[in-house]
Amino acid sequence: MRKKIVAGNWKMNKDLVETKTLITELKNAKKTSNAEVMIAPSFTNLWTAFESLKEYGVEVIAQNMHFAENGAYTGEVSASMLNSIGINTVILGHSERRAYFNETDDLLAKKVNTALKNDMCVIFCFGEELDERKRENQENVVGNQIKNGLFHLDAAAFKHIVLAYEPVWAIGTGETASPEQAQEMHAFIRKTLADKYGQEMADSVSILYGGSVKPSNAQEIFSKPDVDGGLIGGAALNAADFMAIVNAF
Ligand code: 13P
Repeated sequence: MRKKIVAGNWKMNKDLVETKTLITELKNAKKTSNAEVMIAPSFTNLWTAFESLKEYGVEVIAQNMHFAENGAYTGEVSASMLNSIGINTVILGHSERRAYFNETDDLLAKKVNTALKNDMCVIFCFGEELDERKRENQENVVGNQIKNGLFHLDAAAFKHIVLAYEPVWAIGTGETASPEQAQEMHAFIRKTLADKYGQEMADSVSILYGGSVKPSNAQEIFSKPDVDGGLIGGAALNAADFMAIVNAF
């Protein structure tokens, strides 16, 4: 059985007071689904979030980390720093990191290696841009992002990796991939894994969908056979909306 996961990527939102408020609201909300729940606040609020949620079954995860173990990288945060405050999962390869911070496939492969070396789990993100979908080139783009970022790994490493398909044209735009478009791409992603590592391994990897998931569309998207959960941006900033999405499973 693959893990079902709903993860909230808070991006660069919520200061300390707002983080505490949202966490209190999340703790008070009723969870009726058996999906694993994760939240990714900013670096400055990870420790507070971790301390506050460690007995609530909500995993606190990081939005990014550096590939180097330590050293002269002003402004950066290492895997061991995250480990030392109880953070064991990191989002890597988000389209905003790729687009605004020039994160390439090669850099992301290094980050993945560093995370795994430090016993961390990775939510590895990828997805095509609008013009790539218009040219019907999305499978090529996504296939290459996965191969270049992850296919140097052995099959066993994928026990620590969750994939997240986030079509760039659906992020923060209100425009969601249709459940059929999501399913079609997730099936392609699983086939890409199966072609390289075998069907059994491919069937064991959770693949999340991200891009304008909201309470009104979550259930239909999550009902698709190859969609194992969601990576939620805007709707994760509101406790009622986020929990409605979690409970859509
Ligand atoms: P939205 O849910 O705001 O579209 O963001 C999705 C996302 O980028 C999650 O990582």
